[in-house]
Amino acid sequence: MPEMTEKEKFDQTLATYAARHDNSRGRALSEPEANDRNEFQRDCSRIIHSTSFRQLQYKTQVFSNQEGDLFRTRATHSLEVAQVARSVARSLTLNQDLAETLALAHDIGHAPFGHNGQHILNDLLADHGGFEHNLQGLRIIDELEKPYLGYSGLNMLFETREGVLKHCSAKNAALLGEIGARFLPAKEGAKPYRSPTLEAQLTDISDAIAYTHADLEDGVMMKVLKVDTVAEGVPLFAEAIRELRERYPEAKKGEMDSRLVRMASSMMMKKALADLIQASRENIEQSGVKTLDDVRAAPKLVRFSAEFHAKTHIPFKQFLMKELYLHPDVARCRDQQGEMLKTIFQAYEQNPKWMSSYNPKDKERDLYRQIGDHMAAMTDRYALQEFNRVRAQMSMKQMKQGMSRSAKLG
Ligand code: MG
Repeated sequence: MPEMTEKEKFDQTLATYAARHDNSRGRALSEPEANDRNEFQRDCSRIIHSTSFRQLQYKTQVFSNQEGDLFRTRATHSLEVAQVARSVARSLTLNQDLAETLALAHDIGHAPFGHNGQHILNDLLADHGGFEHNLQGLRIIDELEKPYLGYSGLNMLFETREGVLKHCSAKNAALLGEIGARFLPAKEGAKPYRSPTLEAQLTDISDAIAYTHADLEDGVMMKVLKVDTVAEGVPLFAEAIRELRERYPEAKKGEMDSRLVRMASSMMMKKALADLIQASRENIEQSGVKTLDDVRAAPKLVRFSAEFHAKTHIPFKQFLMKELYLHPDVARCRDQQGEMLKTIFQAYEQNPKWMSSYNPKDKERDLYRQIGDHMAAMTDRYALQEFNRVRAQMSMKQMKQGMSRSAKLG
């Protein structure tokens, strides 16, 4: 009997409705098969080795890394999402390699300065197609990464591309062909395409699990959140703290807060994961899905139980929004960041050659899309440097213009 290939061996470990080689829609360009790893692992390597992934290490998650070295950046956040996604995928016999790839790639299209950067860039590009970070993520893996001679992009599997495009406006989806179809009304007579793979659904919720718990920890470390305030607003946290104080009476109030919070956060996360795994298992079973096609036609199946979602997850997110993301200390830099990005944008708009990647012969992208791509790729650190550079160049330009005016007058 012929020996099984890597792909066949891998598929045998997965549920029939998982993303597998035997149901994959493959790559746009065919490639010779790798004999030492499966195709989903290949995609994972392509993300890890991409420039855009490396840039995540200097992009803000919540706290800018200029404020300290210990907070999550988008890169460490993505690693935490991958950890959560892999462990849940294992429990549900889903494709761990795809879940990991999607987790590592899920924030790859983010602009500098967190969500603030995305909003500002979207406003600046409002008359030129706007800016959506999920769509940017897809453009990065499809076109903007250029590690290979012969073609642009990373030639990813359809399932990876589908998962990276987490959300998309109908206007943009209409331009994307097959990959955008689930954001549009189904064509008459066609099977509905409502959901991406279970691995993509899982990564989406793993992101929320990872960032809520991490932001809680970082918020306390940054002293923006206090243990007692969190306990008042988040019942599951209060329960964990009560249990820990009983178990460790030596952990007096105020002392060892960081350990207390880490342990409480980890206890909360365990409960969230247990609920997610059980509820998703039940949903999958009750829905009767057998194949990946069934999954795509079904509503979202990887999700918390209705009770956990309503009573725990949503209030936790609302608490963080009110007490952390909108806190004046966290929001204080936003206006400055906005000014920086606007200045850079206007400088490039008026002087395209100041933008190092500017290509006047680019037939695919007008000046504004080039500015959007260039600015979205910036790390926080580079945006700051670039702001100082263009500001100096603008004053130099104004000075020269002033001098030539007075020479003419004289
Ligand atoms: Mg994220």
